[in-house]
Amino acid sequence: MAKPVIFSLDDDPSVLNSVERDLRARYGQEYRILPVNAGKAALEYLKKMEQRNETIALFLVDQRMPEMSGTEFLEEAIKIFPQAKRVLLTAYADTEAAIDSINSVRLDYYLMKPWHPPEERLYPVIDELLEDWKVRAHIPFDGIRIAGALWSSESHGVKEFLTRHQIPYQWLDIDKDEKTLQLVESVSGDEIKLPVVFFPGGKHLIQPDLTSLAEKVGLQTKAELPFYDLIVLGSGPAGLATAVYAGSEGLSTLVIEKRAPGGQAGSSPKIENYLGFPAGISGDDLTRRAVTQARRFGVEILTAQAALKVKVQDSYRIVEMEDGSEVSAHAVLVATGAFFQTLKMSGADKLTGVGVYYGAAYTEAMNFKDKHVFVVGGANSASQGALYLARFASKVSMLVRGPELTSSHYLVEALNAHPKIELMLNTDLIEVFGEGTFEHLVAKNTVTDEELKLEGGALFVFIGVKPQSQMVDGLVALDEKNQILTGPDLPRDEKGRVKGWTLERDPYILETNVPGIFAAGDVRHGSGHRVASAVGEGAITQMLIKQYLKTL
Ligand SMILES: Cc1cc2nc3c(=O)[nH]c(=O)nc-3n(C[C@H](O)[C@H](O)[C@H](O)COP(=O)(O)OP(=O)(O)OC[C@H]3O[C@@H](n4cnc5c(N)ncnc54)[C@H](O)[C@@H]3O)c2cc1C
Repeated sequence: MAKPVIFSLDDDPSVLNSVERDLRARYGQEYRILPVNAGKAALEYLKKMEQRNETIALFLVDQRMPEMSGTEFLEEAIKIFPQAKRVLLTAYADTEAAIDSINSVRLDYYLMKPWHPPEERLYPVIDELLEDWKVRAHIPFDGIRIAGALWSSESHGVKEFLTRHQIPYQWLDIDKDEKTLQLVESVSGDEIKLPVVFFPGGKHLIQPDLTSLAEKVGLQTKAELPFYDLIVLGSGPAGLATAVYAGSEGLSTLVIEKRAPGGQAGSSPKIENYLGFPAGISGDDLTRRAVTQARRFGVEILTAQAALKVKVQDSYRIVEMEDGSEVSAHAVLVATGAFFQTLKMSGADKLTGVGVYYGAAYTEAMNFKDKHVFVVGGANSASQGALYLARFASKVSMLVRGPELTSSHYLVEALNAHPKIELMLNTDLIEVFGEGTFEHLVAKNTVTDEELKLEGGALFVFIGVKPQSQMVDGLVALDEKNQILTGPDLPRDEKGRVKGWTLERDPYILETNVPGIFAAGDVRHGSGHRVASAVGEGAITQMLIKQYLKTL
């Protein structure tokens, strides 16, 4: 945490030096003593300090200065730092001006020059003012601040990315706070672009892409080596499990992750059916533990870096990444899981991230405190989302197309017992509406055909997921839903041989029809769509990869 500042302003260098010396002697440990000798430059500097999120505890300002008087300076300065205590340094002749400014700038004290000895005439006054300041001051957040708006989908993307990386930030809404708007304007050109991400130390990024943001916060986005034993695509439970076991067995392992580690599981507020956690564990907690474990075993994890295409050259498996770079390995595991299905209705696209959210209950719930929100979907992820949202929202209406929920028993019980959750069964979402943000939806009761217009703050969508296998499309065999086929599920020719397979042995149980390319978790045909199944498949894959590497 940066030290709060005691700001002293005087155009007379000898007075300024002596104020600085006395202040530093007593307050230098706890406060940064900042001596400045010109009023106008000082005001400019205060604006920069505000951008850096620094905080001023006290102004000690000489009244008599040629450029602007102490009172004139304070009038402007307290607009920027309204919480700071104000002390005017006056000569006998300035007493009247000082008394006047008690009202105009709500002066806390005026000190007569000279103030020596400071133990008697300076410190008791400043001590008392600083004590008072400490009790009342709102010390600014000393980390990353995101200034944005609920209607800005880019703001949502940045928040989600940092949340998923468990990087703390403070959210500042330009629509709710005039000072935040001014802060954004002070760094914007003609056009305001959101969000603006302010970093401790004064740097900022305007509407950053995720890779720039990842680099700025110190995440790895580039591979250190050109070649690895194993490249894992995706860092959901399956990818992370393989990475942990591969790392622990000494394989040089690179994980490439498009967004942030955790995958779908990372968006779960509470996983209650994973072995060994009777009270449940949140997806981000589980992810944090797995990432730490993988790194401990020397695994490299790249984030905000998508795998675009997997290629084969002799015994090498090459992964081309979105930024055009390539990295090679003996073996590749595709553990890219599945991603939320999006709504097909026309109004939904333009509201994505601005009132219509996919699996983002965790990130956005706080923004809908005391509001009525909707969840669409009836499976486990929707039920978990609804329960989490109900901690903040005044009411959660759950739109379920079928006659009953398809969630696990423990979730159905929790939903039915929750006073804030309304279950709307046999209810089909027809369209969503809103200008710049979600305003209302229209749904239809599939039994009575009655149409309903329902107003609320946001719509959280959990209507299933689709496999993310694009990077191996055309290279390995997929089923009709684009899930990757492995081992016994691979299609065979009339002679019983796996189609396109080139080796004597049969593919391993989690190997695709291309030797050395494996698939595990939700992207794979036949997977269990559970955290535990993904982890189990990930662990098995590592053993199979080890076997495969012995054959090279
Ligand atoms: C909200 C929610 C709650 C859930 N709750 C539970 C629960 O309580 N219990 C339970 O057992 N299961 C639960 N599930 C299901 C469970 O989370 C999944 O079955 C599991 O996460 C699948 O793991 P995976 O590693 O196969 O894939 P995923 O978790 O989908 O992870 C895949 C990863 O690959 C990345 N990726 C995708 N494409 C690329 C690319 N081109 N390049 C690089 N990376 C890429 C993705 O960004 C993602 O991080 C829940 C799912 C959701 C959505």
